[in-house]
Amino acid sequence: MSAFYLDIIKDRLYTTKKDSIQRRAAQTAMYKILSALVRILAPMTCYTAEEIWKSMPHKVGENTESVMLDYYPKANPNYDDEELEEKWDKYIKIKDEVSKKLEIARADKKLGLSLEAKVILYADGKEYDFIKGKEELLKEILIVSDVEIIKGNEEKQEGAIVGVKVEKAEGEKCERCWMYSKTVGEDKDNPKICARCSSNLK
Ligand SMILES: [Zn+2]
Repeated sequence: MSAFYLDIIKDRLYTTKKDSIQRRAAQTAMYKILSALVRILAPMTCYTAEEIWKSMPHKVGENTESVMLDYYPKANPNYDDEELEEKWDKYIKIKDEVSKKLEIARADKKLGLSLEAKVILYADGKEYDFIKGKEELLKEILIVSDVEIIKGNEEKQEGAIVGVKVEKAEGEKCERCWMYSKTVGEDKDNPKICARCSSNLK
């Protein structure tokens, strides 16, 4: 979880509007995960689970005294969604393919943090249809400052979903979200932040 989900949601938790749907949704998902995980872990790590239970918020009807006195989580059939799973398996695979290229760029000292990168993704056919128009989502998943999607098979390794090219992101680093953007400086009241952060602060 920490290598994928928690890493990705950091941006929305730290930088989007306090009451934005993205931020509230991430908080809800984390709460549900915590609520289930603490019960599953309780028989193995009793003290830690009790400590978590005492400091986490609870719903009406839960036994606040001890995690041992509350119920074991039940699987929610609504969360079984093969289509969604398939879609995310694909995003995870794309992230793996991009990570390899980012790693090479880092080893070559072309960039440090992944946020210093702009990633160009080449795809064709149904793979192109899958990522077409998803630049914003992919920026979040890949934790990079810019994503460009081009139809084609350049840079594509055998068996890969996309071809990947890594460049240095254009613009200045935003002091608030650490993404690189050409919009940094546009807001005269907050000249060190990007347009996205500027609107999130209003
Ligand atoms: Zn920003």
